[in-house]
Amino acid sequence: MVSQDLLEILRCPACVREKPGLLVRTHDVWLICQDCGRKYPIVDDIPVMLIDEGDKWVNTASELLPVPPPAR
Ligand SMILES: [Zn+2]
Repeated sequence: MVSQDLLEILRCPACVREKPGLLVRTHDVWLICQDCGRKYPIVDDIPVMLIDEGDKWVNTASELLPVPPPAR
């Protein structure tokens, strides 16, 4: 599992310079930015905090996110 300490310090890389960019964990394996709606998968216990990756899922409703996330 990803440690809670790590999750608490992670922020959305697209938002963090101007906004809180707080992430909410969903389905255990997704982190959703509360500011922009980008969604970052957790793959093999590693959060994939890439803006390109978040962009791919920004228009996907949280209930439609694949679990587990697709391998990269
Ligand atoms: Zn964001």
